[in-house]
Amino acid sequence: MDEGAESTAAFDVERIRAQFPILKRKVHGKPLIYFDNAATTQKPQMVIDALRRYYESENANVHRGVHTLSQEATAAYELAREKVARFINAEHARQIVFTRGTTEGINLIAASYGRKFLKAGDEIVLSAMEHHSNIVPWQMLAEEIGAKIRVIPMNDRGELLMEEFDRLLNDRTKIVSIVHLSNSLGTVNPIRQIIAKAHARGAVVVVDGAQWVAHAPLDVRELDADFYAFSGHKLYGPTGIGVLYAKAKLLEEMPPYQGGGDMISSVTFEKTTYAAVPHKFEAGTPHVAGAIGLGAAIDFVNSIGLPNIARHEQELLEHGTRLLSEIPGVRIIGTAREKAGVISFIVQDPPLAALDVGMRLDAEGIAVRTGHHCCQPVMDRVKIAATARASFAMYNTKAEIEQLAASLRRIVAAESAKPRPQERIHAVSDLEGLQYPSPAAPSPQAAADELIETFDFLQTWEQRYELLNDLGEELPAMPEELKTESNLVHGCQSIVHLFARKRPNTPDTIDFLASSNAIIVRGLVALLLRVYSGQSAKAILAFDDKSFIQRLGLDKNTTMFRRTGLEGMIKRIRAEAKRLTNQ
Ligand code: PMP
Repeated sequence: MDEGAESTAAFDVERIRAQFPILKRKVHGKPLIYFDNAATTQKPQMVIDALRRYYESENANVHRGVHTLSQEATAAYELAREKVARFINAEHARQIVFTRGTTEGINLIAASYGRKFLKAGDEIVLSAMEHHSNIVPWQMLAEEIGAKIRVIPMNDRGELLMEEFDRLLNDRTKIVSIVHLSNSLGTVNPIRQIIAKAHARGAVVVVDGAQWVAHAPLDVRELDADFYAFSGHKLYGPTGIGVLYAKAKLLEEMPPYQGGGDMISSVTFEKTTYAAVPHKFEAGTPHVAGAIGLGAAIDFVNSIGLPNIARHEQELLEHGTRLLSEIPGVRIIGTAREKAGVISFIVQDPPLAALDVGMRLDAEGIAVRTGHHCCQPVMDRVKIAATARASFAMYNTKAEIEQLAASLRRIVAAESAKPRPQERIHAVSDLEGLQYPSPAAPSPQAAADELIETFDFLQTWEQRYELLNDLGEELPAMPEELKTESNLVHGCQSIVHLFARKRPNTPDTIDFLASSNAIIVRGLVALLLRVYSGQSAKAILAFDDKSFIQRLGLDKNTTMFRRTGLEGMIKRIRAEAKRLTNQ
């Protein structure tokens, strides 16, 4: 592909890439292709330098000292606030509250504005595509004060149903809190229209701008947003720093969110008076370096130009959408007419769990996100456990997208070439005749020792991954009729079913059957069943699972440990052993 096609006088993707040191690194021996930008963006040298410079030569606490360093640090911190204000076209820098990120911004509004101004019976309108951080704080508030949450539904493309929104709005609606750009589907919501409609009914509007700010220009005044929250780390800035913009009048009326130093005007044991906004909302020592780094990130983004970035990412989106939709068996989830920078997809024919897709792409150096993307209600709506998601940033290229498509084609072709395990349908009466995994040794500990020995022998993660795949393939089939809701193990990114029985003639022995739609998880399930299945309940409960996981080295791979739900599976196995012994 001709990289020149991506270079215009205003936008030269290779020059941009050269400013991101991490893009030079390799992953599994392959050049890194980073498509997990909706989770966090990489940092340009300018931001890294700003952080280093601050710690090397300016570090001091802000707003407190008369000494030179403190004054310099304070000036740099407040300058960052001004940069943010200009970046989003706020009227005053005092409308910018530094937070830890979008999540804290929304929690601040719910805890401060929400508790003061909402009462029992009031309504909070959210949408079906909200991130958990724009759901849970409102649920906590609603529970506390007796308010009600209403949800704007969406269509199959992932677009909000605006006529339903009209119907939801009423005189009890006090807050409408909506994502500007969806991280799971890529939908750009008609935020201006939503704000106008909500204002017409007297509600205030919170915009979750976590994804929007890095992708297109923002003018909070033109939108007439009451609150707008975003995170620095998704805007090429550091983690741990975020922004909450609010209309000045709202900030003045709101009580503080946290108490402590830096947010007060005077303190006596009888009465404390608070500092002026925004300091009233910034208790304690703030993330000074983070704010300075965010200021540098904004300078960097401005030097490239958000309209240029938006144009480039739109081209990537179009290119990616075309290439991925041409791959048989791949389905794009989220096909809104207004989209930006995100392609969520699944491999449905042959079915391959998102987790497996993610791990295989990672083996080729391609970083995509897999899972529910902190949007479980979205996944429930589209009836999918998880998707893989490629999300774009200014430094991504069409060539990288072509590599993603080529890898995906190879993955799908390799999967199609494999014989699918036939999972027989058994009648309930036949369940006793089922084949259960046999224990690898006479006790869970002995079985564990054998597995640990095998794992130790395999040096690389790739070899261990292969072994898990092989173990998964040997797992006895679980009949479809056992894959019920009550046998579902929660807390897994993939779908896991687990069934336990007392062995008919040796009731002290517990047999387990389990299955997963993800190949890697099937491997982990097989690993566990080798240890636990066919053992006595007593031995199962006495087995030290934590040191087993540790000795396998699986606890070091926290993504593997948490995302696959290994912990949840062990808990369930132990619970079943306990339940069956008590029967
Ligand atoms: N909202 C959306 C739409 C997001 O994508 C994210 C991050 N994935 C958040 C909120 C939360 O952001 P943070 O974790 O930085 O607070």
